[in-house]
Amino acid sequence: YAGPCSVESAEQFEEVAECVADLGLHWIRGGAFKPRTNPHSFQGLGEEALKIMKAAGDKYNLKTLTEVMDSAHCQLVSDYVDGLQVGARNFQNFSLLKKIGQVTADTHQMVLYKRGFAGTIAEWLAATDYITDCGNDNVVLCERGIRTFDTFTRGTLDLAAVPALHEMTHLPVLVDPSHAAGRAALVTPLALAAAACGADGVMVEMHPDPLHARCDGAQALLPEELAALSQRLHAVREACR
Ligand code: PEP
Ligand code: MN
Repeated sequence: YAGPCSVESAEQFEEVAECVADLGLHWIRGGAFKPRTNPHSFQGLGEEALKIMKAAGDKYNLKTLTEVMDSAHCQLVSDYVDGLQVGARNFQNFSLLKKIGQVTADTHQMVLYKRGFAGTIAEWLAATDYITDCGNDNVVLCERGIRTFDTFTRGTLDLAAVPALHEMTHLPVLVDPSHAAGRAALVTPLALAAAACGADGVMVEMHPDPLHARCDGAQALLPEELAALSQRLHAVREACR
């Protein structure tokens, strides 16, 4: 899973899609509705972004993943993309979880459910039932870093969650090193570590021009860095089989 933090334009997203497809990856991510800390920051292109994602997904034969922040947008988002993401800030937004479960009950679209900043593993698994009880068990859990005393990195990546969750659930477990690290230089080593401890996949942010990204540029890999990571991930998976 790779792609920009936010969809910025058709040109930007197509460039990313071409690269992701060339690497043989199956899923492209992109933000349409962004959960920004500050209301004056770029909030995402909304439905326009969903249209851009759909067009690029169709053109490059990629599955598309985007975050849904608001119960009122669940149906709209599910009409355009393949997978729906619950972001860390909505970890315990139970009405949103339920609504996503209801909207995807028939389609069985993938729901990528991220861990909250202060969410325990037990709370995470318990709340997963809000989605699955509605009839969609196609849920993928995503560790993305939690809050600890150390602010040197954006979050602290809890890799122990990966084997711990594998003991407790059959749901796939993904790792997002980008939001945990907050800096591009740390993303590749953390992604490799995630693969080594059995993660079913990683999700990383990538941007063709990180310096000018409208969101999360500091943690975005360049296309060539993503290509190198993809190679090394295969090697680690082989070695740790
Ligand atoms: C994202 O994936 O762009 C995002 C906002 O992630 P998180 O909810 O983990 O902060
Ligand atoms: Mn981001």
